[in-house]
Amino acid sequence: MSEPRPFVVAVIGAGPSGIYAAEALSQQADVPVRVAVIDRLPVPFGLVRYGVAPDHESIRSIRNTLERTLEKPNVRFFGDVTIGADLTVDELREAVDAVIYAYGAGSHKVLGVPGEQLPGVMAAPEFVAWYCGHPDVHPDVLDAGRERLDVESINRAHSAVVVGVGNVALDVARVLIKSADVLTDTDMADEVLESLARKEITDVHLLGRRGPAYTSFTTKELRELGQLPDVDIMIDPTDLALDESSRAVVGRDKVAARNVALFQEWAARTVGGAAQRLWFHFWTRPVSIIGDGSVDSVEVERTMIDSSGGVVGTGQREIIPAQLVIRSVGYRGIELPGVPFDVATGRVPHAEGRVIRNGGFSADEYVTGWIKRGPTGVIGTNKSDAVETVTSLLADIRDGAVTPHHDSNELDRLLADRGIHPLDVDAWHRIDAAEIDLGLSHGRRRTTLAHRSDLLAAAGESSLD
Ligand code: NAP
Repeated sequence: MSEPRPFVVAVIGAGPSGIYAAEALSQQADVPVRVAVIDRLPVPFGLVRYGVAPDHESIRSIRNTLERTLEKPNVRFFGDVTIGADLTVDELREAVDAVIYAYGAGSHKVLGVPGEQLPGVMAAPEFVAWYCGHPDVHPDVLDAGRERLDVESINRAHSAVVVGVGNVALDVARVLIKSADVLTDTDMADEVLESLARKEITDVHLLGRRGPAYTSFTTKELRELGQLPDVDIMIDPTDLALDESSRAVVGRDKVAARNVALFQEWAARTVGGAAQRLWFHFWTRPVSIIGDGSVDSVEVERTMIDSSGGVVGTGQREIIPAQLVIRSVGYRGIELPGVPFDVATGRVPHAEGRVIRNGGFSADEYVTGWIKRGPTGVIGTNKSDAVETVTSLLADIRDGAVTPHHDSNELDRLLADRGIHPLDVDAWHRIDAAEIDLGLSHGRRRTTLAHRSDLLAAAGESSLD
């Protein structure tokens, strides 16, 4: 008897959510599948490569597990293929049996305060992408209307304000504080390290618009800040007095309780004399960013929680000098033309991973990761999320709701007809080897290639398209 024809599933996005979906599909034996993991970048791993801070090597090493999935016989990586440009979503849906959207949250939120456009103000996701060596932020050629990241303002700053009290804000604050000598131990691109070697930041101010019970830090990452050498942690102990709502949060949320205990421990430390300071300003929100030509300070307002639980200003204001402002107030999903999108939430509408189109379930579309649930959770959260989506897809296949209706080689044929040559996992292995070789050549264990042209050259592609 001949083998049944495999279902061809295209996953858009080779970050952790997409690769975990491919893993869940490839690990089951009920339904024969072939998975095409497509990414617009020449390299896989999404935020594991371009979001997790380079000095968090143990988290970044998750890429080794993700890589093993891409090496499976029924999984293929299609790098350097942009859905929405090389192929439309409709063309992709025509060429495969089902699609899983896993393209993450490609944008970021803004504060909406005066002065936000001043040079010296940047979004944390852009800064993170820069220090992780993302080719969009290290362009070979600048796209019209796009500016390079304002690295000069990082070099110019003595004081930086980071708005937001989530894990990204912690990463940003740590990278701003740590010396380039210490960061040499990471895989940061050479040009990033060279820039960071010029920074002269002595003070980093983290602003939380609510109290210490309401941060979204994980305690392990928070504790790391207190271990930075020659850095005083500055907290006003009066900020740590817990009101009734904060006490309720600490009572039910163990992470909040541990974080508040850590703030209390830090506030009780004797400080003074360290070369750098890391300030936590709770109950504080920015109301305007001030500067003549570039940012030189931030006007902040004291806040409180009103009877409905919302954050309101008290009118009490002060000025924090800062030549760099990084808003770390969250990522946001963006619309991929041809895919249902809820503008209000920045997500693809779905139920248990089944995409809702025109009020009903789409027959062949599924969603996972940040574009499904919003930009929340740690990397492992994407695994259970992907399992939920794949469970829905497999149930639909078993029920006959998703049926194979194409030749299983249609995607390859379509790409070949368009003259598109995807980069496969072997191309990634060549890039990987080139980054290790580059690192070893100057005494580092690895150096990220930040430019698309360098990634393509290492992959064995001779020209830019
Ligand atoms: P996040 O955890 O949602 O934190 C966003 C922060 O911005 C919150 O403190 C929020 O305060 C604040 N904020 C939002 N709008 C604001 C405004 N208009 N003015 C002032 N503050 C505002 O987002 P994230 O830090 O970008 O992290 C994204 C996800 O990645 C999270 O799930 C995070 O845990 C994960 N991550 C994990 C790690 C790790 O090492 N484990 C590292 C990086 C990222 P409110 O709470 O008051 O809204």
